[in-house]
Amino acid sequence: MLETPLHESDPMLPIPDDATLAAQFQKVKPLMTENEAVIEASRCLFCHDAPCIQACPSSIDIPMFIRQIMSRNPKGSAKTIFTQNILGKSCGEVCPTQVLCEGSCVYLDLNEKPIDIGRLQAYATNVAIENNIRFFHKGPATGKKVAVIGSGPAGLACAHELTRLGHEVVVFEASAYAGGLNRYGVAPYKFTNSDADKEVAYVSQIGFRIQTNVRIVATQDDSAPESGKTYMTFSQLEQQFDAIFLGVGLGQSRKPGIPGENLPQVYGAAEFIYQLRQEAQKIAVGRRVVVVGAGNTAIDAAVESSKLGAEVTLVYRRTPEDQSAYDFEVEHAKHAQVRLMYLTSPIQIVGTQNVEGLMCIRNEVKAQANGKSEITPIEGSEFLIPCDMVIFATGQEKQTRFFDALPGVTLDSGKVKVNADFQTSNPKIFAGGDCVNGGKEVVNAVAHGRDAARGIHRMFINTTAN
Ligand code: SF4
Repeated sequence: MLETPLHESDPMLPIPDDATLAAQFQKVKPLMTENEAVIEASRCLFCHDAPCIQACPSSIDIPMFIRQIMSRNPKGSAKTIFTQNILGKSCGEVCPTQVLCEGSCVYLDLNEKPIDIGRLQAYATNVAIENNIRFFHKGPATGKKVAVIGSGPAGLACAHELTRLGHEVVVFEASAYAGGLNRYGVAPYKFTNSDADKEVAYVSQIGFRIQTNVRIVATQDDSAPESGKTYMTFSQLEQQFDAIFLGVGLGQSRKPGIPGENLPQVYGAAEFIYQLRQEAQKIAVGRRVVVVGAGNTAIDAAVESSKLGAEVTLVYRRTPEDQSAYDFEVEHAKHAQVRLMYLTSPIQIVGTQNVEGLMCIRNEVKAQANGKSEITPIEGSEFLIPCDMVIFATGQEKQTRFFDALPGVTLDSGKVKVNADFQTSNPKIFAGGDCVNGGKEVVNAVAHGRDAARGIHRMFINTTAN
């Protein structure tokens, strides 16, 4: 049954002008001034055994860097942060600090607002980046060469640490710009292209090379020509380098396999956000957009579409309690006027040349004999959501085809299996970030990359000793 008639006007919105884009995509966590930072830092209780440190995947000494801000020493504060996390700027801005460090701040036990750790971290690291204050230098040359595949947070952290340890590093990046998720994957109201480019320049000046537009393929057969790209096979890398780090992230967005999903206005969320970031938000979206999914990426795609002027509906097959998006992200979506529709599954995209609507079915929660519950479709409840664009945010594929072709690398449910040193079953190959953990936060990837670099260094020492 049709809920409302199909619309017939121009389905795509004009691209907003620069002033509108700038206003719509203002940062959700704006940078603090020095005085704001000092005042906020002075609230910190500098706890013994600070729970905020325990909650930080990169183990930054948070009370220490906050104390340094309080004493108007942002340079020292940045050094404290970068010692543990060389991507401390992006982590301060894009990490869900509300559920990590700030989520464990003792102020919450007092029913008070937690310390604004993310913005303090962004403030101090920004001072260092903007003034190009460097704390780390290339270590004495070891003669070892390491290839890093992927210039996302894991790859950059790995390359930086390896360079500090004296190894020669080349980072290979398939895209036109380095930065990975920070450059192409997070919402631009969290971290801009300019932020990402400055961070890459700051981190890489320690002395590792980044080769962009170079795609590493498992075999020559994979080298489907893509204009402007150079292709190298994995075996070529193996011949030229003493170790290889895989920081390749996840693959394409998953689509559910329903009729109509190959229409031109149907996107995967990762590809939609990639294009949005690539074109500095200057992309046309449909007047009415439906986003399918209820994770943080779904929220990002929905909010971004809304900021570009679309009327956005987010549909999710389960209940609000089941959604994986953080509560603060869901609130952000509501604030952006995104309509949330639960217990709703897509069954068909309607349209011949263009998307005209998403046919859905309502679901219900049914109790099972074992005490659990299941989601089942309600017969005859089909209805149409008229729309001009559909974005699927229902997860991303793992790059199993690529990994399967790598000698000795084994997988566990599509994720690369590594030991405590982030070494795969092939002693020369290490891995970290989303391809190992299945997709977590930027800070988790940074910690993996840093620790994998130390694992590679230990492997070199042990190999030399034997
Ligand atoms: Fe400061 Fe909160 Fe960390 Fe305590 S838990 S040291 S108050 S930021």
